Amino acid sequence: MSEVQFKGFGVVDREDWKHTKLISFKNRKFNDNDVDVKVECCGVCGSDIHRASSHWGPCKEGQVVGHEIVGHVVRVGSACKLGLKIGDRVGIGAQAFSCLKCERCLDGHEPYCAHFVSTYGRPYADGFIGQGGYANYVRCLENFVIPIPDNIPSETAAPLMCGGITVFSPLYRHNCGPGKKVGIVGIGGIGHFGVILAKAMGAEVYAFSRRQNKKEDALKLGADHYIATLEDENWVDGLYNKLDLVVLCANSFSDIDLGKFAKVMKFGGVIQSIVAPPVGENIVLPPFGVSGITIGSSAIGSPNEIKILLDLVSKKNLKFWVEPIPISEEGVFQVFDRMEKGDVRFRFTLTDYNKQFD
Ligand code: NAP
Ligand code: ZN
Ligand code: ZN
Repeated sequence: MSEVQFKGFGVVDREDWKHTKLISFKNRKFNDNDVDVKVECCGVCGSDIHRASSHWGPCKEGQVVGHEIVGHVVRVGSACKLGLKIGDRVGIGAQAFSCLKCERCLDGHEPYCAHFVSTYGRPYADGFIGQGGYANYVRCLENFVIPIPDNIPSETAAPLMCGGITVFSPLYRHNCGPGKKVGIVGIGGIGHFGVILAKAMGAEVYAFSRRQNKKEDALKLGADHYIATLEDENWVDGLYNKLDLVVLCANSFSDIDLGKFAKVMKFGGVIQSIVAPPVGENIVLPPFGVSGITIGSSAIGSPNEIKILLDLVSKKNLKFWVEPIPISEEGVFQVFDRMEKGDVRFRFTLTDYNKQFD
């Protein structure tokens, strides 16, 4: 196939970042091990808001965000060897490249490769910054293009490519399962995946939100317990030494008291953070306030873990709460604005790409 014409909704004015504009852009050169995907839909991750709004430093002019992409393969490089074919329905998440040669890559820990390149945001070695899935086409190294099982609708599969895998990876690696008491902190998009997935993996699930207003929904998602950390001052009482694993899924640490979470962990318990806060926010811990437990952070998930997640969702026919919004300048404005206000239960997926781009 010849070179496609790339178009997408880019941030053209940092001060007015929610009003993206439909722009044409040049992509990087197509390499022999690349795949081009015609986008069908794209989930809206909290990271899109951080990037577009310059929470992580100035957003580049014309940045197209979106890394929860589902679409169909339209071009396969001549050196591709993973079996992708034109027409395959595939997903692309937040990672577009890693070296594939270092020990971490060879052991299946590609998100922790020193040469990690993100779908948008973090540059390639030559300085090129990729463009995301609020666009008609996406170009990606074949290793990060994952086939989607037939029975998962595209609108649901899309947010699994970042939101879903980001919480599944630490749950999976830290043995979430029957007999485990698992906390999910921050019931936004990723937190909602966390509650549903931890429950499906067999754990007893504790949903931690700042206020009471998500209680009914969190219980419907499958949480066994609900704790409103800002509204119940004494929430730690009664949970002392209770939890095996906690995944922090908020978009900021400002309302999270880690010292309190340390108290509700069992000895040897694990707290994993996936929070990617605005620049300048750090984790501050008292020297002995976290004795006996392990705290770490976790980055997305590997291609192999994405396949395991998709397999679980497909086999258990799991349902998630996704609100479709047709892509357009107005649609992108709406999802940015409502995400910022926390007005979504629980994930948006931008849809109707054919109407906008064909
Ligand atoms: P989201 O849908 O906006 O949800 C964020 C949730 O955080 C909110 O629903 C809220 O939950 C909680 N929250 C909001 N303000 C807070 C504050 N000041 N202090 C404490 N909690 C607060 O976002 P998301 O898509 O789930 O993404 C969550 C975070 O994960 C973002 O920072 C994103 O960049 C990051 N992320 C990281 C990775 C990774 O690889 N590590 C991958 C993807 C995304 P409650 O109302 O229930 O408290
Ligand atoms: Zn993301
Ligand atoms: Zn590597």
